[in-house]
Amino acid sequence: MCGIVGYIGPKKALPILMNSLGRLEYRGYDSSGIAVLANGVPESVLTVVKEKGKLSRLRDKLQRQELNGFAGIGHTRWATHGEPSERNAHPHLDCTRKIALVHNGIIENYAELKSRLSAKGHRFQSDTDTEVAVHLVEHHCAEGLKSGKKDGVLGAFQKAVSEMEGFFAFVLLSVYEPGAIYVFKRSNPLVIGIGDGENFVASDAPAVLSYTNRMIYLDDNEFARVTAKAVEVRRADTLALVRKAVTRISWTISQAEKAGFPHFMLKEIHEQPQVVETILKEKLRAGKIWFDSIDQRVESRLKKIEKIHLVSCGTAYHAGLVANYMIGECARLPVEATVSSEFRYEDPIVGPKDLVILITQSGETADTLAALREAKLKGAFTLGIVNVVGSTIARESDCVIYTHAGPEIGVASTKAYLAQLLTLALFSIYIGKVRGQLSPGQMREYIRWLQKLPGQVRETLAQQSRIKQCARLLFEKKNFLYLGRGFNFPTALEGALKLKEITYSHAHGYPAGEMKHGPIALIDSNQPVICLSPASKTYDKMVSNIQEIRARQGIIVSVATRGDAEMEKISRATFFIPRTLEIFSPILTVIPLQLFAYFVAVLNKRDVDQPRNLAKSVTVE
Ligand code: GLU
Repeated sequence: MCGIVGYIGPKKALPILMNSLGRLEYRGYDSSGIAVLANGVPESVLTVVKEKGKLSRLRDKLQRQELNGFAGIGHTRWATHGEPSERNAHPHLDCTRKIALVHNGIIENYAELKSRLSAKGHRFQSDTDTEVAVHLVEHHCAEGLKSGKKDGVLGAFQKAVSEMEGFFAFVLLSVYEPGAIYVFKRSNPLVIGIGDGENFVASDAPAVLSYTNRMIYLDDNEFARVTAKAVEVRRADTLALVRKAVTRISWTISQAEKAGFPHFMLKEIHEQPQVVETILKEKLRAGKIWFDSIDQRVESRLKKIEKIHLVSCGTAYHAGLVANYMIGECARLPVEATVSSEFRYEDPIVGPKDLVILITQSGETADTLAALREAKLKGAFTLGIVNVVGSTIARESDCVIYTHAGPEIGVASTKAYLAQLLTLALFSIYIGKVRGQLSPGQMREYIRWLQKLPGQVRETLAQQSRIKQCARLLFEKKNFLYLGRGFNFPTALEGALKLKEITYSHAHGYPAGEMKHGPIALIDSNQPVICLSPASKTYDKMVSNIQEIRARQGIIVSVATRGDAEMEKISRATFFIPRTLEIFSPILTVIPLQLFAYFVAVLNKRDVDQPRNLAKSVTVE
């Protein structure tokens, strides 16, 4: 879900495309490519150049060619379907090389469309979902020509889009209409930059902000036809023209990169509703949980598993701990969560009847990779839960489920953690069903609550200003205690880790029931204690723990279920989550803790996005 750019006007397109793609480089990507259209007689010609890896490699390759066209499109890819490679990089071409297309997002029904188009004789060059879009447009262009209809590229594009499910931003350039770039948006962002006698297209304004600050923001289900002199926006269903406002952007490029948020971390925290929505759309179809990578063979192997190990580091380890409870509830199987650096050296007791799940955002975490290799050596079946497509752990695991959180820039993980939790929740329910532990009624109940999550994540985020106020009260404290039970014991660990990582204050997560065995000695009127107390089996026990803290004048901040007046009464500050099943509560309770850590860090003037001593992808032992 990465960068798109486009240009049409009187200047050479290539330098503008490359400069604009460079502006999107900070977001992370795995390959890039451009298509330039050169006017010619009798026909214009599309040239596509692509390369795996950094933009500098594409630049080197382009040195060897002369591309003089005045219209072009470009893309930095962040793979979701098909490994990062030159072949899978965008733009993609149709069979006749007359249409080039770039795409951000996911086409969910690509497999079905691909087999339909293959049966009609279309030849595919890549493993991406994207390529079906360009062949589908080609197919409808040909049909249109055959039937003598004059609805042109736009008509064919409209028909193609109506057959695709998922979320996308598309930009298309074709020799059929060399003077126009066509774009379409559903879910993924797309802006049109308005210049003088030239126009731009981008997935994000910063890409073209050095050329123009006048933008038209497309809404969902809108097409635009962009020529050098005009922009026509139309509704997807009727193709009726839509009047669009031109917004003048006053942000600097660096502000625009963060979509107006002061830090990437805050931007990523606010991207979480979208992430949850994406995962649910991908993996929950027609009331069923669905993983592209799990076929019959994998499923029959999973049926025979006797124990599950969750192996990961840092924040991902906390996701593993939550999954420990989730799998326990749904599948009644023995589960063990271990940090990778321990697992790899403990001569783990695993064999062919064990499933070892490796959880990692980057897919490159050194200790987790070593743990994977150790597990495979011992004959265990391995499953990677990974964010970065084509990463080493994704490639080496027997099976991989991608979390589709998109690139994460803030070093302290937020949206990638939420994506891991949700993916693991879906997997737990799936494995419960496969092993005959869940009835159809229970499945329906889980799914009913899962569908509420995107809105509930949004609702939880809406408390930001209350959380900021609480941070103002406590930001000078140097020692924090986080307590939780059951599903939310790992949330206590994660809340404490987030605070430690970005504020450099000490924070300790603990199971609330263990407080009396030690940490209670810390409690006095100077000690903040963050208590995870949503509705749960152990709610009353949590209340007793809170009373114990109150009796010793500790400063109580709680995370509770909306409507819990009791909790509000006994706490100095309370953050609420909407009502949900206990199993899904960690997906919501962590959000106020992310925001709390963020504001404490900002008030202490810390470098939120790049905290000292930390790295985003830990590729050393
Ligand atoms: N799903 C597409 C792919 O894997 C688009 C990726 C992107 O948005 O960068 O190629």
